[in-house]
Amino acid sequence: MADKLTAVKGMNDIAPPQSAHWEWLEERLRGLMQRYGYRCLRTPIVEPTALFVRGLGEVTDIVEKEMYSFEDRLNGEQLTLRPENTAGVVRAVLESNLLYDGGKRLYYMGPMFRHERPQRGRYRQFHQFGAEALGFAGPDVDAELIVLACDLWDELGLTGVELEINSLGQPAERQAHRQALIAYLQAHDDQLDEDAKRRLHSNPLRILDTKNPAMQALVNAAPRLMDYLGHESLDHFNRLRALLEAHGIAYRINPRLVRGMDYYNLSVFEFVTTQLGSQGTVCAGGRYDGLFEQIGGKPAPAVGWALGMERILELLKEQGKLPEPPVPDAYAIVPDAASMGQVMPVLRALRAHGVRVQMHAASLDGMGSMKSQFKKADGSGARHALIFGPDELQQGQVSIKALRADPGGPAAEQRSFALTEVATWAVDLRPV
Ligand code: ATP
Ligand code: MG
Repeated sequence: MADKLTAVKGMNDIAPPQSAHWEWLEERLRGLMQRYGYRCLRTPIVEPTALFVRGLGEVTDIVEKEMYSFEDRLNGEQLTLRPENTAGVVRAVLESNLLYDGGKRLYYMGPMFRHERPQRGRYRQFHQFGAEALGFAGPDVDAELIVLACDLWDELGLTGVELEINSLGQPAERQAHRQALIAYLQAHDDQLDEDAKRRLHSNPLRILDTKNPAMQALVNAAPRLMDYLGHESLDHFNRLRALLEAHGIAYRINPRLVRGMDYYNLSVFEFVTTQLGSQGTVCAGGRYDGLFEQIGGKPAPAVGWALGMERILELLKEQGKLPEPPVPDAYAIVPDAASMGQVMPVLRALRAHGVRVQMHAASLDGMGSMKSQFKKADGSGARHALIFGPDELQQGQVSIKALRADPGGPAAEQRSFALTEVATWAVDLRPV
């Protein structure tokens, strides 16, 4: 036998019954986005590598070590499997001039790829859902996006998701803070780990984000970016805070919240939970007013967030909030394969009336006994069995048996209906 092929490490199949949870989550997300007036944008999974190098910044975890990049074998073009989709959205918006008549509210969902060490809540192919408001200066849309996320937690029934916010100010303010931060860190260079030493001059802000316990005291006492913000940046931040307070949304200001991509400015935020171990950030985002220019477009303000769908589903599972997988309304028991020509069109008509019907199909050793078919019907979770036995069919009828009687209600009965009157009995089978 040939060697068994397996999926790439860190890349998962999503099979039933879990796939139903994904569909459920996706539906909830789509419905919510519609209510907020966000519309779907689908972009390619492969983009030019330069989009991410320029968009995210060269000294970021993603660009330094996490991208799946390859060369197009025909023209030598450098390509990358998208590690995130904000840069792709901005590219598409620029390319199609989507902002020609004003701001746009967009959302996307789909797989992202990062070469990380796989562990719970961290995969190499994972899925993000993202919302982006482009062409709006904020802070009203900043607040809208945060409120939207809070509505999502409510709608999903999630609890214990906490909001952290910060402001990264504008590039000039960050520059002033950067000088002070480098000076401070240099004065304590005996306490810096390898990562921090490497980043000291390339991306010192990210050092504040370190997870190394030995460096916590050092970064806690470091100069705070917030103290370097000018009047306008502070005003933006305070107006965002006031809007959150007007909604009764609780938040914590985390002066060390810096985010992994270089493109952020002003508002940044994360939704975190303590229930997923160290992969506790379920949704993260911020304002990225500089990104349009960085990838060669006319400047435009923008803000957005992305949530990790695996982490949301994991948290739902942890909290027992995942829905039961859907079951058929009815399972069709067909003792005789020769009757299929008569039975299948009836099932089709039922489905046209909105009934979820699963038919018993032959396996290698035939249709199986009535008894084994009933077992299958039961195992399917269906509420009814449709019995297309020879006696029933001869009289042009079907028997319907309730498989799940109401607890405490009358015993499940079996009733017969005419095959020609599907429309009347379909009503009784439809989902309640
Ligand atoms: P982390 O600090 O956990 O690596 P990040 O800052 O790299 O997160 P973002 O790029 O902001 O993450 O992506 C937004 C969200 O996507 C994260 O908050 C997380 O929920 C999810 N996410 C990011 N990377 C992964 C991954 N490798 N596997 C699963 N989910 C991920
Ligand atoms: Mg990461």
